[in-house]
Amino acid sequence: MKNQLSLDVVILGLPGSGKGTIGSLFAHEIKRDHLSTGDMLRALDRESELGRKVFALIDKGNFVPDKLIAEMVKEVLKEKESVVLDGFPRTLSQLPIYDELCQKLGRQGLFIKLEVPSDIARTRLLARAVKEGRTDDSAEVIQKRMEVFQELTAPLIARLKKQKRLVLLDNTRPPVEVVSELNLIYKGELERRWEHNLGTGYDGI
Ligand code: AMP
Repeated sequence: MKNQLSLDVVILGLPGSGKGTIGSLFAHEIKRDHLSTGDMLRALDRESELGRKVFALIDKGNFVPDKLIAEMVKEVLKEKESVVLDGFPRTLSQLPIYDELCQKLGRQGLFIKLEVPSDIARTRLLARAVKEGRTDDSAEVIQKRMEVFQELTAPLIARLKKQKRLVLLDNTRPPVEVVSELNLIYKGELERRWEHNLGTGYDGI
């Protein structure tokens, strides 16, 4: 029997807020796996039956069904002591799925929200479109993803904030600074910040 709960770091934030970048750098820092649900979905074969269904949703900026994500994540979490989770839970309805998994598997999540004004997030996504050619990084799909975030992820963020379970981290700074602050929070050496600390230009998403 484990007497200590494994601690996952769960990263939330707008599309383009840097979840992938910070998630993978931090996972490397603490020598854990970076589990990105977006990457897992994009690794599916586009021509398979499942791949066709999934890409039809992703390519338009829509979310895939909770059940599919839950199955995927469950398989991986069963095998790993603690991970950096990027992309799950992402909706209010996915929170109890994660909480239940935590109970069953003896783990808990440190929820981090990367704070970035939405105009910066959009600019980053458009730059990534040129570099990586992701099919969901066109201006039109980015707009849709922002709307889906407002509709489905913002309520999760509001809930976690209310429960004082969400630590806010300014990700307009260089990644090394953000990762080192995250590390201090993870190790319990820095007070967790529950209120946003960006300037007046921040649009509060
Ligand atoms: P990301 O790489 O995190 O931006 O995710 C890319 C896309 O994968 C999203 O726009 C969704 O279509 C899908 N996706 C990733 N994680 C989830 C999730 N937890 N629930 C539903 N859809 C997801």
